[in-house]
Amino acid sequence: EAPGTGSLLKGLNPEQHAAVTLPSGASLILAGAGSGKTRVLTTRIAWLMATGQVSPGGLMAVTFTNKAAKEMLHRLSAMLPVPVRGLWIGTFHGLCNRFLRAHWKLAGLPQSFQILDTADSLSAVKRVMKAMNVDEERFVPKQVSWFIAARKDNGERPKDVDAHDPQSRKMVEIYQAYEDQCQREGVVDFAELMLRTYELMRDNAALREHYQHRFAHILVDEFQDTNRLQYAWLKMFAPPGSPQSVFAVGDDDQSIYAFRGAQVGNMADFEREYRVKQVIKLERNYRSFGNILDSANALIAHNAKRLGKNLSTEAGPGEPVRVAEATSDYAEAQWLLDEAQQLHRSGTPRSEIAVLYRSNAQSRVVESALFNAGVPYRVYGGLRFFERAEVKHALAYLRLLENPNDDTSFLRVVNFPTRGIGARTIELLTDAGRASGRSLYQSVGAVVGKGGANLLAFTGLIDQLRERTRGLTLREIIEQMLDTSGLVDFYKAEKEGAERIENLGELVNAAEAFVTQEGFGKDAVALPVDETGGPGTLAVGLPPAPAAVDLTPDAETGEIVSPLAAFLTHAALEAGDNQAQAGQDAVQLMTVHSAKGLEFDCVFITGLEEALFPHENAMSDNDGLEEERRLMYVAITRARKRLYLSFSQTRLLHGQTRYNVKSRFLDELPEGALKWLTPRNAGFGSGYAKEYQQAWQRGTGLGSVVGAGRVAGRPAYTAPPAQPLPAAMQNKAGASHGLRVGQAVFHTKFGEGVVLTLEGNGPDARAQVNFGRHGAKWLALAIAKLTPVD
Ligand code: ATP
Ligand code: MG
Repeated sequence: EAPGTGSLLKGLNPEQHAAVTLPSGASLILAGAGSGKTRVLTTRIAWLMATGQVSPGGLMAVTFTNKAAKEMLHRLSAMLPVPVRGLWIGTFHGLCNRFLRAHWKLAGLPQSFQILDTADSLSAVKRVMKAMNVDEERFVPKQVSWFIAARKDNGERPKDVDAHDPQSRKMVEIYQAYEDQCQREGVVDFAELMLRTYELMRDNAALREHYQHRFAHILVDEFQDTNRLQYAWLKMFAPPGSPQSVFAVGDDDQSIYAFRGAQVGNMADFEREYRVKQVIKLERNYRSFGNILDSANALIAHNAKRLGKNLSTEAGPGEPVRVAEATSDYAEAQWLLDEAQQLHRSGTPRSEIAVLYRSNAQSRVVESALFNAGVPYRVYGGLRFFERAEVKHALAYLRLLENPNDDTSFLRVVNFPTRGIGARTIELLTDAGRASGRSLYQSVGAVVGKGGANLLAFTGLIDQLRERTRGLTLREIIEQMLDTSGLVDFYKAEKEGAERIENLGELVNAAEAFVTQEGFGKDAVALPVDETGGPGTLAVGLPPAPAAVDLTPDAETGEIVSPLAAFLTHAALEAGDNQAQAGQDAVQLMTVHSAKGLEFDCVFITGLEEALFPHENAMSDNDGLEEERRLMYVAITRARKRLYLSFSQTRLLHGQTRYNVKSRFLDELPEGALKWLTPRNAGFGSGYAKEYQQAWQRGTGLGSVVGAGRVAGRPAYTAPPAQPLPAAMQNKAGASHGLRVGQAVFHTKFGEGVVLTLEGNGPDARAQVNFGRHGAKWLALAIAKLTPVD
């Protein structure tokens, strides 16, 4: 060992030490979460350089997310005096980008090639399909886009795809045309970055030799999530049997990208093809306290498909895992906000507080709670709610209602959904606008022919919508807009449109919440202006507005801001300024997928409800369920000191209230490691719910209730006698079938379930029942035999 390397290796346990200092060759470290895989990998990089075995330019390290790559560089710079900037350490996409920037000519790209994100790529697919006159009903663009990405991830160009039937031949034809268009325009999508790099290495012997010679060491983190192309790519840089050293670390229990083609099998292939002599296992967890780790171990033990390994810690049990049940997603977010604030006040940096959720759509409520409380937050991986394409489209329509001369909004939706307004027409319109100095909206008359007629139809639609929504509440305005604009129908027709529609539903919820918070009651909006004495009076009696949105009449003109305008300002502010500035201490929001590899002192896992987590799409088959469980394992193991798990009795999704059953994953955790903050299994209409509602009506929120309980040194809640169901949860259809929402029932085929929704009367009565393993099902009560079990 070279002098000075001792300090690098200090503190490693014997297995870690052995892994860091393995001789060159192929190595595989297979170990559970928080066992130090990334630390070993990073330390090995430092050790290789410090001992002079490799120069900084001679190694490449790959990881999965930008945040993880940053983290690795950060840890490295703490260990080594080497400037880490020039190192080839990054994500697969980042490294490929770098490679192609260096070899753009050989790769057949313009020097300044642009990268298409997923949304850009989809619209490129649509343009191609339009030009080819492909029927969007038969070939759903999103599906085509997935097809293309999947082919690329599999290393297949159009000519390589096996297409036997007319349908797939057409897909391949579109794939080819899409490629041609991207090439013409000098753009590449994400999958193309990888494939292009792979092909260039494969086809260019000189380049291949250069890089194989250059990178003597290649290190891959999170190896369990590599897909076929990434593994093939790796083999280009370091073929099996070559003198290069490949160091891979992974955890089969954290494989969470099978749905995108990740192959856990790559680990076995790697072991075999590279003739790995000894797989090193690390079994001690350094990240989390005992209760957190016990929970993770107990959960993952429910999976059958495992390579098998366990984790232990010497850290002691630590605090119990806190579990809370909320009455609504809104209440859950408020509770979370209160807890986060308390944590922060007692010294936890905000950046050490992470809020994890299964689906992106869940972030909106949490963002809103943090935003309103002025708490800085940052959202990783996935766009923030108001920046998502479908939400931006919807907002653009709303903006046009307020101001038809907003050209940006005009351009965004003039042909979205498609209305036969092509690029040429837009060009003519833009020219006309520029020549006369008027807005696009004002210039539509200047365009003749079919394009002009279609433009007029569009402005007609906007005018009509404005007319129709006059005097309506904000919620009604948005619903009208979603309907009239064709947005919802458009996404309904898309195979992958469900999440978008979900987000549009969230927009309605956001508006609703905004109205409640700002005090725009239905009455206030509906007041005819003349009755109240003209402009300026609408704001009378409204509670003081928050600083962000000013609702008072303009002092000079007396103009009042309509709820719509106020909401749009609010949306623009939330989209733009509230995201924490770089370097600012901010609460971390992300999906579980993007939390992989990261760690935080305090972690909230929210929305632990059946059909949400585990996700409904994955509940029907066992592989899907096991992947969801691995995802939950990833989530739990992010926490160092404190872990919160929460679920909500009701949740607004698709603009509709859903009644939830708590996630089965909660039942798979060891009782002794948990502490329920709310009465266990209290169910609907519990005292907790009532207490919460009262606290909320007083404007104090749950935190103060819980807090009060804590201060007094006794449990926050004692389970009260059963309460009647809140009116909203009662069966409106009359009790002829004797069922109520929340009731446990038995079905001869599906087994036990819980009634989620009841609809209709007499022979039309329907129930939506969550059957756990079988998922939620709608049943006609005249036919289905449901027996109450409680
Ligand atoms: P994941 O599977 O989640 O990616 P991991 O196996 O990569 O986890 P690391 O992130 O490398 O684990 O390590 C988890 C935590 O444990 C880190 O904070 C790391 O610094 C710490 N750690 C690892 N090994 C040791 C050790 N020998 N002594 C003290 N702390 C350690
Ligand atoms: Mg790691």
